[in-house]
Amino acid sequence: AAKQRNDGAVAYDAAMDKSSAKSLSLLTELRNAIERDEFRLHVQPKIRLDTGEVVGVESLVRWAHPERGNVFPDEFIPFAEQTGFIRVLTGWVLDQSAALCSDLQRQGIHLKISVNLSTRDLLDQDLPAKFKEILTRHQLAAGSFCLEITESAIMDDPVRAQLTLERLHAMGVDLSIDDFGTGYSSLAYLKRLPVDELKIDKSFVLNMENDIGDTKIVRSTIDLGHNMGLRVVAEGIETEAVWRLLAALGCDQGQGYFMSRPIAADKLVGWIAAWTP
Ligand code: C2E
Ligand code: CA
Ligand code: CA
Ligand code: CA
Repeated sequence: AAKQRNDGAVAYDAAMDKSSAKSLSLLTELRNAIERDEFRLHVQPKIRLDTGEVVGVESLVRWAHPERGNVFPDEFIPFAEQTGFIRVLTGWVLDQSAALCSDLQRQGIHLKISVNLSTRDLLDQDLPAKFKEILTRHQLAAGSFCLEITESAIMDDPVRAQLTLERLHAMGVDLSIDDFGTGYSSLAYLKRLPVDELKIDKSFVLNMENDIGDTKIVRSTIDLGHNMGLRVVAEGIETEAVWRLLAALGCDQGQGYFMSRPIAADKLVGWIAAWTP
């Protein structure tokens, strides 16, 4: 059955569907979900840790399922990856993010929008052209976007990934290494790839005020990033103490529940208006 999460959302349990008589395959469901407009763009603010200024948002997709309620990406992104549906979904997220970005710009709010890419996206030779079409349609500069990629996605096919990333970066988009520190071979590609940002994985950040080992890893990662000329972002900031600690260590930007959970895109302007660092 559906599992209730502590934030009130319902987790999708694949086992539930196998037993359901009217069950469609999840892939069919995902395809229908696009057609029925069931995906929702949520965004989480990215904050400058020294000033508290909102400098960007990360786009995070949700599935507003008619029966199961809000389904979280961990429940369907892996499957979307396996089946190749992720390319459709990534196109949708990029398009929605671009619409949000240009809408904000019309209101005088200039934010960089971060979008997550997965392995399949990096192997998609058409991605740079699709991205360009979206930029043109929404009259946006590539520099309004930051694309987040994980170490494992790069390692899947480093040669092709590098080619795609170089083409995207040449257009002027920022590239970020997401979940930094959790992959296998973090360092080798850092000097090869056209990276602008490192995102320290939340597993090192969540409890860092109580864990000296985490603090050491975070400190070293910030120094490594800065030595390589990169912007360093921490995710998973849940307390003011962790914000202060990261700011003292020189971390550039952060996001986390302490500032805001991911919120529906149409709530962002109201959130920014109410935000006092
Ligand atoms: P991620 O890219 O590492 O995103 C960060 C996750 O950490 C998000 O979970 C966010 O809600 C959560 N988070 C943010 N601040 C905090 C905090 O202070 N504490 C804690 N405990 N968690 C925090 P979410 O939204 O459930 O997304 C999970 C993963 O699903 C993402 O991890 C990303 O890998 C994937 N994902 C989400 N949206 C997309 C998308 O549009 N495309 C792709 N390819 N993947 C996506
Ligand atoms: Ca991310
Ligand atoms: Ca991450
Ligand atoms: Ca993650």
